[in-house]
Amino acid sequence: MLRQLTISELVDRLGRRDCSAQDALQACFDHIAQVDGEVKAFLSYDVPDAQAQAAAADRALQAGVTHAEKPLLGVPIALKDVLCHQGQPVGCSSKILQGFISPYDATVVERLKEAGAVVFGRLNMDEFAMGSSTENSAFGATLNPWDTTRIPGGSSGGCAASVAASECFASLGSDTGGSIRQPAALCGLVGLKPTYGLVSRFGLVAFASSLDQIGTFTKDVQDSARILQVIAGHDPKDSTSVPRPVPNFAGELTGDLRGLRLGVVKEFNIGGLDPEVSVAIQAAYRQLESLGAELVEVSLPHSDYAAATYYIIAPAEASANLARFDGIRYGARVDGRDPEELNSRTRGAGFGPEVKRRVILGTYVLSSGYYDAFYLRAQKVRTLIRNDFLKAFETVDAIVSPTTPTAAFKLGEKSGDPLQMYLSDIFTISCNLAGICGLSVPCGFTQAPKLPIGLQVLGKPFGEPTLFRIAHAYEQSMPWVRERAPLG
Ligand code: GLN
Repeated sequence: MLRQLTISELVDRLGRRDCSAQDALQACFDHIAQVDGEVKAFLSYDVPDAQAQAAAADRALQAGVTHAEKPLLGVPIALKDVLCHQGQPVGCSSKILQGFISPYDATVVERLKEAGAVVFGRLNMDEFAMGSSTENSAFGATLNPWDTTRIPGGSSGGCAASVAASECFASLGSDTGGSIRQPAALCGLVGLKPTYGLVSRFGLVAFASSLDQIGTFTKDVQDSARILQVIAGHDPKDSTSVPRPVPNFAGELTGDLRGLRLGVVKEFNIGGLDPEVSVAIQAAYRQLESLGAELVEVSLPHSDYAAATYYIIAPAEASANLARFDGIRYGARVDGRDPEELNSRTRGAGFGPEVKRRVILGTYVLSSGYYDAFYLRAQKVRTLIRNDFLKAFETVDAIVSPTTPTAAFKLGEKSGDPLQMYLSDIFTISCNLAGICGLSVPCGFTQAPKLPIGLQVLGKPFGEPTLFRIAHAYEQSMPWVRERAPLG
């Protein structure tokens, strides 16, 4: 089926004129019409705009433009509702931004377009990217295409569900504490969170600016490398983007792991890991060894503090970033007698409970008298966490672990208990605190029901080539990359 192809396969067909960009887009729209009533990955999409882009891609293909020149020419790619796409709504799945239209393109969107991609659709998410299940969306939950009684993960749940449901060929999301890797794992996809500073955040609505990074959801590793090649690289519009040359990521997909040392984290050996996840992960470790890698134990002594540190720093930054939604400058407004009342009414009506919880928490830890005890201390622990990783990377090339402690959970199972929900990020959070890169690659399924499990690979700062090399060799040696969800 056309819609089920990887990007490399689609590009092959487009290059041979076996199908057109308009066919590829139509395959997505047809399937959206068929399954999105169940999956609910899309908040909206602009059919005429996408068709115009696809027609332009077809004209370029006719005129002889190749994929060597425009690596994503004619490839339909969808966006999390946190990325600005000029002329399209951007709302972070929040009521407070209702009616707001992006005045410009995010740098990543601009680069996708320059590479010829057909950029379309707004994908559902936890409001302002706060959550791990997409149940915090103001517009209802997204469901997992492997089992629609379950969540797809979050916060980029729409990104993962749309690709797993073959409603688009890839998507871009954001990862602040696991929001790409966790949903990718729960939906059987490759999810990449690049190193902080590799991809420009210009045009990404900020949640926690020192942790946020834009990354990819794809069906395989090669597709992830292809998109990263397009979106990575310095951008003067984001002062935290790092001016360094972008390596050729596809060149690293050698299939060979000989000579690589991979760390298994002693402290990640926690209770609460689902037995089926544990079995799949152990089998993945053995497979990596059989491909030539050497597995050694490493220690990240401050891992225990990662969740606590994250839940101080991320809300603190969020409380500052979300102050701009004041009822005056963006989106929705509830009037009041004076600006203060307008502001509090708008925010009271516009934000959902989780966002309010984080803003209150963040304001508290930043308030005078508590700043040193909470925020400053968390910053110090963050440095210790980063140093733990840098020390481990002196002896290993990458670290491997489960991406999540369990496979996809049931809708409603954790939504009443924020602490339980926070714990589903236990393996993914420290990567963002450390600013390093991380990827999740499918490593099997639970038995009944059949739900995907993800292997996480964490790499050094700017170690994406090594991540790709490991994940690609592993993926190509296993059968799962060809599996599609029942609704795919
Ligand atoms: N689940 C985490 C949170 O709720 C991470 C979210 C994210 O990465 N955006 O904050």
